[in-house]
Amino acid sequence: MKLREHEAKNVIKEYGIPVPAGFLIRTAAELPAHLDALGDKIVLKAQVDVGGRGKAGGILMADKTTAVKTAEELFRKEIKGLPVKEILAEQRLDIQHEYYLSITVDRSSKQPLILFTEEGGVDIEITAKENPGAIRRVIATPLMRDLPPFMLRELAGKAPKEIMPIINKLYRVFLEKDALLAEINPLVTTLQGVFAADAKIIVDDNALGRQGFTVNRDLTDREREAEKHGFSYVELNGAIGVIGNGAGLTMSTLDLIEFYGGKAANFLDVGGGAESERVMHAVRLVASVPTVKVIVVNLLGGITKCDEVAKGIIAAGISQKVIVRLAGTNEAEGRRLLTEKGYEMLPTMDLVVKKAVEVTK
Ligand code: GDP
Ligand code: MG
Repeated sequence: MKLREHEAKNVIKEYGIPVPAGFLIRTAAELPAHLDALGDKIVLKAQVDVGGRGKAGGILMADKTTAVKTAEELFRKEIKGLPVKEILAEQRLDIQHEYYLSITVDRSSKQPLILFTEEGGVDIEITAKENPGAIRRVIATPLMRDLPPFMLRELAGKAPKEIMPIINKLYRVFLEKDALLAEINPLVTTLQGVFAADAKIIVDDNALGRQGFTVNRDLTDREREAEKHGFSYVELNGAIGVIGNGAGLTMSTLDLIEFYGGKAANFLDVGGGAESERVMHAVRLVASVPTVKVIVVNLLGGITKCDEVAKGIIAAGISQKVIVRLAGTNEAEGRRLLTEKGYEMLPTMDLVVKKAVEVTK
């Protein structure tokens, strides 16, 4: 789960990383109460979950006299299609230099990877492409609670020495908050010292319980519904809905759709031993995806019983066509129930997928 900028800043502030004075507002009318604390120069930052928010017009500069009007303007905007519901109003920093600092998990070494560059502010992807030598990389081990001074020196290079303790503090944040990413871009120098002008933290979804988060709010309504039922679910925007049991069978169904020139609407693994009600929820969920024209159900009966699956499909009562391949436990009964209701059943996954692709063409 990605924390919004103001939440991430509260976290790093607790760890002693300096952040500019700021207030979260939900309407422009809340702003005047904070103007004295903010000072003359102000920056207004839309709290929307998109990258490159600055370039997309989500950050506006203002001063004391124009701040309320500017906030109203920002609240009316959409940033990359997202409405602005919250704004972080901050004291505007007089930036001397922008640095980039991030900590993430390196997939090959399976250790925390710390990146630092003097070329901050802009997209790190661009720096990585155009000037890869400017990015310093250090692999740490999570067994260390603090980074040793030689690592901090290697990362910071000639940057002001106040930056070294900030790198270490962000490393603590990364470890203790079960983060997949902790990033400060830009980390800035000013005459008043070093500040995190922006912050981003992504907490591992598997750690939400222990970190005290109850909801993963980055999910869409359908993803949330899927999570409620314990389905593995990913949305893909095609016309063919997919329901399978087991990640392998479901993935190969997607591969086959691609192979025959179709486009899957989703990935949904109902898991083993699905009862009719679970299957019904899965079918209704996939049918609710607006792009879905046809649904392929590809299930293998082991602990899952084919007659239960059939009852679930029938109970869902959806308007789109459902094409079914069932094999295994209670297959004959499942087949009888579905054919009785006029559902199309085909004996192999190759055939169901081919048929579904034909239907959408
Ligand atoms: P992002 O586009 O979502 O990454 O938003 P950031 O918070 O990183 O801001 C983008 C850019 O806006 C920064 O790199 C700065 O150049 C500028 N910016 C942000 N806050 C301030 C500030 O307080 N003062 C000044 N002068 N510029 C700022
Ligand atoms: Mg940024």
